[in-house]
Amino acid sequence: STAQQRLIDADHAHLLHPFSSLYSQKNKELAFFESGEGIWLTSASGEKYIDAAGGLWCTNVGYGRQELVDAASSQMSKLCYLHSFSNFTHEPQIELTEKLLSLLPSGFDRIFYGLSGSDANDSNVKLIWRYNNVLGRPEKKKIIARESGYHGSTVTAGSLTGITAAHRAFDIPRPGFLHTVAADWHRRPDHIATEEEFVRYLADELEKLILAEGPDTIAAFFAEPISGSGGIIPPPAGYFEAIDAVLKRYDILMVADEVITGFGRTGTWFASPRYNIKPDLMTLSKGITSGYLPLSASVLSERVSKVLYSEAEADGAFGHGFTASGHPVCTAVAMANIDILEREKLPENAAKVGAYLQNQLREQLGDRPFVSDIRGEGLLMTIEFDKDKETRTPFVQASKAGHFAIQACHDEKLVIRGARGRALAAMAPPLTLTESEADQIVERLLRAFTRIEDAMHKGEFD
Ligand code: PMP
Repeated sequence: STAQQRLIDADHAHLLHPFSSLYSQKNKELAFFESGEGIWLTSASGEKYIDAAGGLWCTNVGYGRQELVDAASSQMSKLCYLHSFSNFTHEPQIELTEKLLSLLPSGFDRIFYGLSGSDANDSNVKLIWRYNNVLGRPEKKKIIARESGYHGSTVTAGSLTGITAAHRAFDIPRPGFLHTVAADWHRRPDHIATEEEFVRYLADELEKLILAEGPDTIAAFFAEPISGSGGIIPPPAGYFEAIDAVLKRYDILMVADEVITGFGRTGTWFASPRYNIKPDLMTLSKGITSGYLPLSASVLSERVSKVLYSEAEADGAFGHGFTASGHPVCTAVAMANIDILEREKLPENAAKVGAYLQNQLREQLGDRPFVSDIRGEGLLMTIEFDKDKETRTPFVQASKAGHFAIQACHDEKLVIRGARGRALAAMAPPLTLTESEADQIVERLLRAFTRIEDAMHKGEFD
């Protein structure tokens, strides 16, 4: 329609979309959506898509939940805003905090609220720096994260992020942010034969980096339990135990970024316990409101909060917060969102239907020549494509292959996600997914796959 065309023209003229091969100066094709229900998105022209990516891995309870609309609306009419990072407080943020602490692994006792995963990671870095200042060791400030890790896009969170393609255009990572080797079994060095060897290699690499920099200068290690945006990379068995031993040796804090893995995504409320991660700090966002409103949480263990609440802070030296910290409407919606996850047992459903979907993918696609890996946990999974699956040799133009796959699925009205520099089809559908909806995802994927495989056979990405 002309009204819609006017909006699209205005978007082209005035919105700054991130540039990628899906949207660039050359390719400005936009997908225009109007409404959502469950796993479904409806475009402005009335076409129905399955959002198998769950937005950006965040719509855990699915689109269109009236309960969340009601929670927002009733809180907004009662108290729409409160400046709550200093001495003012309100019920929704207190209730949410108690609820979160009851769901999290034991040992956590304080929460600071922000609005995005990026700012929560920034807050965690400031908390860690303050922690070491209070402890009288101001030189212990450097942070180690991992290659292929994603922690956000602000200057600090972008510096934690280990995806080189995300750095190139900007002067990040900033000094003091380092990266160690990713726990990426699929892309392991050729000389490594077993998971055990790989884990030893990864722990050694971390220790070498710490020793080269000087252990007294390293403050913390950031990791996602399963790397998400970097390509859905679950850790090899024993990995976090081996990392933990290294960190303990040099008194380095562990931060688990559960922005994607939290709130049931991998089949349990949080993924840290499954991998024996014992974080000193945790980062939460996305599934905390299922994407309905912006909210994030920096979660502090007793070890960290004890220091920050010690005598040294009696003068209120830690001044940190945002206008919308602990926002009453966002925290009220988070509470209602958690009610749904609990009542409908959605973490359990993610485990069950996630296993079903992964099995279907293996059965239908596992033997195909270019499908070199199918991996994931719960409703967080990916298919990876390689030029040669036996030797795990990637396509020369892996990004191009990845974008081709996204586009081919989009043409079949299936929304999936890729990862920078890799050829893969990643999925994180709402945790409400049923087996029959999973079948519909597989059907669409198979239709798209005919064209994907055809292009691969023709050598379009070699
Ligand atoms: N951490 C992880 C693990 C993420 O996946 C993301 C977002 N993809 C972020 C942090 C950053 O969150 P946000 O985009 O809300 O800033």
